[in-house]
Amino acid sequence: MKTEFIIPSFIYLYDENIISEIDISSFVEFLQKYFPFSIIRFRKSFLNYWIPRSKWKGGNLTKIAFRLAQTRINQIEIQKVTTTIPLPEEVDFEQSFLLGNKRNPKRVIYDACRVIAIYSELFDREELNLDHCHLVLTDRLLGVWGKEERRYQIKGVVFGNPTLISISGILERLSQLKRFEEENEQNMGRTERGSCDKTEQLQEIVKGHMLQALFYYITGNPFCSNRNCCLFEDRSQEDIIHAQLKVESDLCPFHHQMIEDLLVKTSFQAF
Ligand SMILES: [Zn+2]
Repeated sequence: MKTEFIIPSFIYLYDENIISEIDISSFVEFLQKYFPFSIIRFRKSFLNYWIPRSKWKGGNLTKIAFRLAQTRINQIEIQKVTTTIPLPEEVDFEQSFLLGNKRNPKRVIYDACRVIAIYSELFDREELNLDHCHLVLTDRLLGVWGKEERRYQIKGVVFGNPTLISISGILERLSQLKRFEEENEQNMGRTERGSCDKTEQLQEIVKGHMLQALFYYITGNPFCSNRNCCLFEDRSQEDIIHAQLKVESDLCPFHHQMIEDLLVKTSFQAF
């Protein structure tokens, strides 16, 4: 049986990031260009939006803070177990953060899959389906356990409902890249270099992750094997440099066509 792909009618952008001056309106414009029939809504913080509306409201803030503190990764070589008891100061910190009194701690890595599980429990049922796509820009550093590497890997994006896009994670990769370029220059005399400034690079990477997240919602597969497609999963430093050299994030012809076909179907359903 052929699978029916559906473009979400609603796309929500949450901005929990305060470390970087990114231009949210450019993301709305960017997404609207690809998904003209979807309603795109901007909401400030996912947690501050959903906690008062969830069944966990009021006195349960401490419980959410406790669970968030449980997702902190203290040693990247050890896979975290769900029964870890966090330190009281870690819970206090998360509670202060939820109340808007603290910034995210630098260098603390959170277990992304477990953060997504906590976030997804806060949704109202009517917004918890594939017709509603939730994208959260966060400045938490996110880690995902690598079975082969036997350690947590820092990620720029982790797909789920909601999908988390880590601004800190992307900046971390960009810093690693800069070090890699400098070392290469010293060793080899020259290297292929990204031409954009850091904010531009960040913006373009976030746009690529947003489209990956949309394709994850629509088809279950966020990635493409074409290096020139913004769904390409950049695994190596060279891939990231290649991605940077592109002026603007864009889809390959195959994915462009897929979107166009889906939009034709969506427009027939709408009228
Ligand atoms: Zn593609």
